[in-house]
Amino acid sequence: MKTDKLPKARSEMEEYARSEKLLSLPLPPPEQLREYAIELKQALVDEDRTEILATSKLLLNTLSDYFAVPRPKTKILSVRPLEVHGEWEFQTFGDYDTETAVLRLWMKTAKQKKTSAYGTFLNTLVHEFCHHLDVVQLEFPNTFHTRGFYERVAELYHHIQDTPPKKIVWQRFSDGTYAVDWAKTMRR
Ligand SMILES: [Zn+2]
Repeated sequence: MKTDKLPKARSEMEEYARSEKLLSLPLPPPEQLREYAIELKQALVDEDRTEILATSKLLLNTLSDYFAVPRPKTKILSVRPLEVHGEWEFQTFGDYDTETAVLRLWMKTAKQKKTSAYGTFLNTLVHEFCHHLDVVQLEFPNTFHTRGFYERVAELYHHIQDTPPKKIVWQRFSDGTYAVDWAKTMRR
């Protein structure tokens, strides 16, 4: 998890700074969400794409209704796209189109084509939902990956999972971006 490069345009800088500072969201009542999450977990174990879509939609619709935003259009795709740049590889777990409000989640890993682990899949779902919320409610049209963005995702994810949130320890780079220091974060 790494933050986006700092934008140059003044209005985008201002948006980036606001997103950085917003560390948490109001949290929805968790009972129904936790029930749907358990159903999603089973659907992933069963590798049942129809059920994965149905339970993902239940989660996303419940979240959307709570935050009083339009429900995103949701698609479940098969094998994650893989980009290879020399030694460096990048898989797309999910994405969100800021123009069309279409949210896509991939259910299989790029190489071994195994069904995603539940935690990974749910985290991606929450991540993409937070992009949606940024655009349609929080007035963050560029929906930058800032430290605030990742903090909001982590808080909502742990709330749904019913797991204690970990305090994220950030490592700063000279260009003003940050990455999660996983070793220090996990030690806490
Ligand atoms: Zn993202």
